[in-house]
Amino acid sequence: MSQYVVVWFRRDFRLQDHTALYYAINEVKKSGKEWLALFHLDPPEHLKGSPHEDYFFQTVSQFKQRLKEKGIHLHILTGEMEEALNKLKKELPSTSDLYVNLDRVGEGAKRDERAKDICESLGISFHGFDDAYLTAPDQVVKGDKSYYKVFTPYLRTWSKIQKKKPVRLSESEIVAAAANVPVIDEKSERVFQSVLKRCSTSWPLLGEKHALEKLEEFLVGKINDYEQNRDYPELLGTSQLSPCLKVGTISPRTILFRVFEKKDTKGREAFIKELAWRDFYHMIQYYNPDCKELEVRNEYQGFNWNQDKNLLKSWSEGKTGFPIVDAGMRQLKKEGWMHNRLRMITASFLTKDYLIDWRLGERYFEEMLIDYDSSSNIGGWQWAASVGTDAVPYFRVFNPTTQSKRFDKKGEYIRKYIPELRHVEDAFIHEPWKMDEKKQKEAGCLIGRDYPAPSVNHHIQRKKAISMFEEYKNVQ
Ligand code: FAD
Repeated sequence: MSQYVVVWFRRDFRLQDHTALYYAINEVKKSGKEWLALFHLDPPEHLKGSPHEDYFFQTVSQFKQRLKEKGIHLHILTGEMEEALNKLKKELPSTSDLYVNLDRVGEGAKRDERAKDICESLGISFHGFDDAYLTAPDQVVKGDKSYYKVFTPYLRTWSKIQKKKPVRLSESEIVAAAANVPVIDEKSERVFQSVLKRCSTSWPLLGEKHALEKLEEFLVGKINDYEQNRDYPELLGTSQLSPCLKVGTISPRTILFRVFEKKDTKGREAFIKELAWRDFYHMIQYYNPDCKELEVRNEYQGFNWNQDKNLLKSWSEGKTGFPIVDAGMRQLKKEGWMHNRLRMITASFLTKDYLIDWRLGERYFEEMLIDYDSSSNIGGWQWAASVGTDAVPYFRVFNPTTQSKRFDKKGEYIRKYIPELRHVEDAFIHEPWKMDEKKQKEAGCLIGRDYPAPSVNHHIQRKKAISMFEEYKNVQ
């Protein structure tokens, strides 16, 4: 009887440069075993119904369909993990190996530890790999083995480390070695279909092919001006690969090595540096496993953040009265994605102008972002709130109007997401409250009726934020 090597897909819905799949197929070729594909759906009652979940499950569905076209079934198992792995072993007693790309932080890391133990008890060999980042979280360390708290020296060491090259399998190798076994659990397959039906947003452009095309599109054009354009939201000068990286329809190695090939590209170094930030925050979460709840800089733990629900609501709905902030928040609501400059501006506004707890903002982004990555999101929020490692100093508070004038000079981004301000002249687009009544009428936008008046005075709030940080520091 044939033995089965199971590849458990989690946030790596692709066939190329997939570390666990690559080693599983090699094992299969050596041993004459067969492989099968598995997706485990945590108890669906844990699902909250959010754009990032919709995007995720539609990606899984697209991958399932793609495998089906090749004659491979992506088996679904629901329920608690122990129950799911027991079911696997019960239905397919000759399952001998489980191959997975590991999660190294957060709940995923704890789950993988448990999965390893359960496999051991079931007589299944567990094979885990680092795959989702360019470096393992404990790979880039100082001479004394402690971790870097500041990005620039981290980057120097990170850059010297040779990165793993992408691994390649031919489609025929993948297909030839696939097991043809009956569906393991019909009920789980039905649960998966019902989860898909619950998705309220439909995301087009999913899957590995789309991700690879997106990369190529970026490499033939935008990368050349990446350094100059990456901060200007209206220019869309970045790769927009973050959702693909989140669900693993592309691997970071594929991106990096394609970028390496573009020898004469001007934006190359600047772009690679951003991939290093991704690894940096992953490393920070690895060494600070409580950072979703606790500030990495422990001198700020217990800071008296505001918890005002009404202010939080006006921010999340894009109704703060500050056009650049509102445009960013409306982009997020509409597209499940936001430009990096806007993530910085909106996070800074929530934490410094509203003095609202960064954890509330982090959670709202978690719900809304289709590229939600706990390490980068927590890192970004703690950066903006000045409580993380290598964060913006608390006394350098972003002025939303200055940011707006600098990065959206003509207000094109603002007008795209705030239709009420579409006819406001360039001179007032960043500060529409400065229009007199006549101008407001001409623009078809009465402040306080069609678009909110500023909800706070930035200059007062800035001073308040700085003095709160100073007082807190002195008390500690
Ligand atoms: P590009 O500029 O094309 O960069 C290429 C890749 O590098 C990105 O896809 C991303 O994987 C990585 N990258 C770029 N900038 C950063 C950064 N500052 N930190 C870490 N990695 C980076 N990124 C996420 O992927 N998920 C999140 O949940 C997330 N939340 C954030 C929250 C806040 C408050 C802030 C300030 C930043 C957050 N970021 C997050 C980082 C960054 O905003 C996005 O990665 C970037 O906007 C994605 O767009 P892109 O793919 O076009 O980036």
